[in-house]
Amino acid sequence: MLNGKRITLIISGGIAAYKALELARRLQDKGASVRGVLTKGGAEFITPLSVASLTGDKCYTDLFSLTDEAEMGHIRLSRDADVLLVAPASADIMAKMAHGLANDLASTILLATDKPVVLVPAMNVEMWMNKATQRNVETLKGDGINFIGPVDGEMACGEVGQGRMSEVEDIVTGLEDFFAKKPVISIKEGGSALYGKHIVVTAGPTHEPIDPVRYIANRSSGKQGYAITQALADLGARVTLVSGPTSLADPDNVNMHRVETANQMKDAVMGALPADAAICVAAVADWRTDGEADQKIKKDKGGIPDLSFVENPDILAILSGLPAKDRPSLVVGFAAETENVTENARKKLAKKGCDWIVANDVSHGTNIMGGDDNQVHVITNSEEENWPRANKKAVADKLADKIADALNT
Ligand code: C5P
Repeated sequence: MLNGKRITLIISGGIAAYKALELARRLQDKGASVRGVLTKGGAEFITPLSVASLTGDKCYTDLFSLTDEAEMGHIRLSRDADVLLVAPASADIMAKMAHGLANDLASTILLATDKPVVLVPAMNVEMWMNKATQRNVETLKGDGINFIGPVDGEMACGEVGQGRMSEVEDIVTGLEDFFAKKPVISIKEGGSALYGKHIVVTAGPTHEPIDPVRYIANRSSGKQGYAITQALADLGARVTLVSGPTSLADPDNVNMHRVETANQMKDAVMGALPADAAICVAAVADWRTDGEADQKIKKDKGGIPDLSFVENPDILAILSGLPAKDRPSLVVGFAAETENVTENARKKLAKKGCDWIVANDVSHGTNIMGGDDNQVHVITNSEEENWPRANKKAVADKLADKIADALNT
């Protein structure tokens, strides 16, 4: 799709500018020819020489350069291409485009062009979410400008959220889609209902050691808690996932804390506060042994060990009982029951002092424990919703929407 295409690559300011060099190479590997234009901001991060070396062509930087104008006037620069690709596209260059400003070579080319334009935004999450930037994005979309990304992820500044430049491979694919007249991957729609919120989720089992090789635990795959974490992050929340041992991969774009025991889980949860919501999905072991044996307990010495247990901290009850200034405004617990599901869940709601209980029937034959489906009842002080059986991702998405509604009202 890119073979023989002429691409003008405009590189504006931002730490992601270094990725534009790799992008230029990948586009040429696909048979495209690339001509580089570097803004003043872009030139703070990479040099015209590196762009020229990688594109095998002059790198254009200056609107008022006599030599540049003599070789290739800015009008020709804006027309001699099949597409103008701006990567990274800074908040500044998007603002200029949205308002028709032309005060440097890049913005003048973009105003003078009669060719399609594809923007690959890259900026800090706050800059991306700023109302002014979002207004400009809407204006540019209305003007027929195409977008690839941005995506969620960790930024160079250490913050996490939407605004990160798409990966080079995804930009190449996006451009191929563009030339194939397929819809270009665009900004994630509806992905910001939980923007600015911090949510703590617990998931998986806890392992309570008996000795260095043995432990007691509850059955839990962690699938539902991880799916909820992902659904919340996809709505723009900053999520801290405190997980017991599972075989699942870390969800994307979350602060991950892996722990083993209930006490470690409690410490990680408390350390993650303040939070707007806490969603306790973990199957925390109710008891731990009263002291862990230093050495493996030998079978042949003294017969069956006499284990005694002590109670673990109830993380859900602790969170629910925090003073108002520290308590997440929404605390949600889960109740895996094998009989009288909603009745037991209602009792649990009162006992723990949380705001909602999400209850499910995990008795044999339901195939919910460890399976891919779930059927839940959401119980609050005022209502009871019985949701139809669905896969755990669908349940997670629906619950994340309900959480977003609750936090936004
Ligand atoms: O009391 P039970 O274990 O049935 O309560 C289940 C709910 O309480 C779940 O939300 C679970 O994550 C939470 N829980 C907890 N800490 C415990 C026990 C349960 O947070 N020690």
